[in-house]
Amino acid sequence: MEKIKNFEEIVNHLKATGYVYQGSEIYGGLQNSWDFGPLGVSLKNNIKQLWWNEFIKKQPNNVGIDSAILMNPNVWKSSGHLGGFADMMVDCKNCQSRFRADKLIEENTSITQLDGKSSEELDEIIKTNNIKCPKCNSNNFTNARAFNLMFKTFIGTLEDSKSSVYLRPETAQGIFVNFANILRTTRKKLPLGIGQIGKSFRNEITPGNFIFRVREFEQMELEFFTHPGEDMKWYQYWVDYCYNFVLKLGIKKENLRIRQHSEDELSFYSKGTSDIEYAYPFTSWGELWGIANRTDYDLKQHQDGSKKSLEYLDPYTNEKFIPYCIEPSVGVERMFLMILCDGYEKEMVNDEERIVLKIHPSIAPIKAAILPLTKKLSDESLKIYHDLMQEFDVEFDESGAIGKRYRRQDMIGTPYCITFDFDSLQDGAVTVRERDTMQQIRIPISELKEYLKTKTKF
Ligand code: ATP
Repeated sequence: MEKIKNFEEIVNHLKATGYVYQGSEIYGGLQNSWDFGPLGVSLKNNIKQLWWNEFIKKQPNNVGIDSAILMNPNVWKSSGHLGGFADMMVDCKNCQSRFRADKLIEENTSITQLDGKSSEELDEIIKTNNIKCPKCNSNNFTNARAFNLMFKTFIGTLEDSKSSVYLRPETAQGIFVNFANILRTTRKKLPLGIGQIGKSFRNEITPGNFIFRVREFEQMELEFFTHPGEDMKWYQYWVDYCYNFVLKLGIKKENLRIRQHSEDELSFYSKGTSDIEYAYPFTSWGELWGIANRTDYDLKQHQDGSKKSLEYLDPYTNEKFIPYCIEPSVGVERMFLMILCDGYEKEMVNDEERIVLKIHPSIAPIKAAILPLTKKLSDESLKIYHDLMQEFDVEFDESGAIGKRYRRQDMIGTPYCITFDFDSLQDGAVTVRERDTMQQIRIPISELKEYLKTKTKF
C-alpha cells in the first residue's frame, strides 16, 4: 500500500514540475497518452544520446540506422507479427471490462511465467484459482482469446486490404530488412551490431501505470549479429553490459535483478532470454530491458519471405551462413520512469522537508542553475549564464530567497547551483552547491566550464 502511495506522489511530482503532462489535456485527455514537458523532453533526449554513445558510437563493431515506421506489410508476415503478435484477453461478462489474461493471473495469484500458455490453459488457471474481476468482483469471464496488438491504418485514398499498413510494434524489423544493405555499404564484418532508436506502437489491452505501459513509446534496440558458435558468449556479454550500464547510471542495486527465462517461457526460436527488471513502486518487479538470443530466426524468416539472400560470406573461411542475433531491447519511457522513481527522495533538512531528484548528472535535464544572491547582481550573473548556455543546459533564477531557489532546483534534479555573491565581484569566484551532499565549494568563474564538464560525465 505504501509503495502505491509513493508512486502517486512521484507521478504528481512529475506532472507538477513539467516532466510529463496528460496527453491532449485541454480536451479531457486521451486515455494513457502522455506528453513530455520541457524537463521531460530534455531527460528523454539525454537518455537517448547516452544510449547512442554507449551502444553505437563507442562500439567499434556497431553502426546505427533510422528506418521507416511504415513498412511493406510482408515484413510483418515474415516476422510473425501478423499471425502471432497477440496477447490473450478476457472480458468480464458482468461489467464488460477487458483484461490481459496473463496479467490478471499474475496480479491475483503467485503464478508467473505465463508466456506461451494456450487460451485453454489460461481459462483453466482463471477458473481453478477463482479469480475475480478487479473492477466488479464477479468471476464470470469470457474464454481467453487472441488480440493482435498492431495498429492498422491505410496508405493513399482507398481503405481496402491492398492499402493497409501497420504502425511498427518494434524497431527491430527495420534493422533485419536492412541487414544486407548495411553489410554491402559499410563493408563491416561479423560480429556486427546495428542499433536504432525510434517510436513503436502497440495497441495494448491494458496500458497503465503511468508511462510504464503505453500504446506509443520509444525503443532503443540493438541487433548484434554473430557467428553461430559465438552467440552464447555475446549473449552473456550484452546481458552484463546492459546491467552495468544501469548500475553506472546510479540505479540502486537492490532495486535491480536479472531474471532468466525458464525453458517453458522461452520463445520457440530463442536460445536464451534475460530480463533486467526494476522494482517499480507500483509492482514487485517490472521488465526494463529484454536481452534475447534470437538465433538465426529473423534473418531466416526474411530470407524466406523476400527470396533475397541474407547469408553472410565469411571472408576468412569462405563459409556461408545466416548469422545469429543477440537483441538487447529497452523502452525509453521505462528507463525514464526507473530513473525518476529511483532518484525521488524526501529528506529532512533543518526540520524542513526537501524533495530531491537524485539523477545522474550526465542525464539531468538542467546541469546547473545560476543564482545571483540579490537582483543587484543579476547583470554580472547573466554573463555567466549566457556563457555556460553555449555548452550546457542551464537555468537562471533570480527570484526568492536563495534557500527556496536551491529547493526548486533539487525538485527538478539539477546537480549544481552556482551562486554569484558580492565577493564574486572582487575575487572572480562563485559558490557551487552540490545537490546530493548540499556541500558548497568556491570555484573561479574561469574554471566553471571545466568543472561542469568533468562532473557531468557518464
Ligand atoms: P511486456 O511483457 O511488458 O508487454 P514485452 O516482453 O512484450 O513487454 P518487448 O517486446 O521485449 O516487451 O519490448 C522490448 C522493450 O520495449 C521492453 O523491455 C520495454 O522496455 C519496452 N516496451 C515494450 N512494450 C512497451 C509498452 N507498451 N510501453 C512502454 N514500453 C514498452
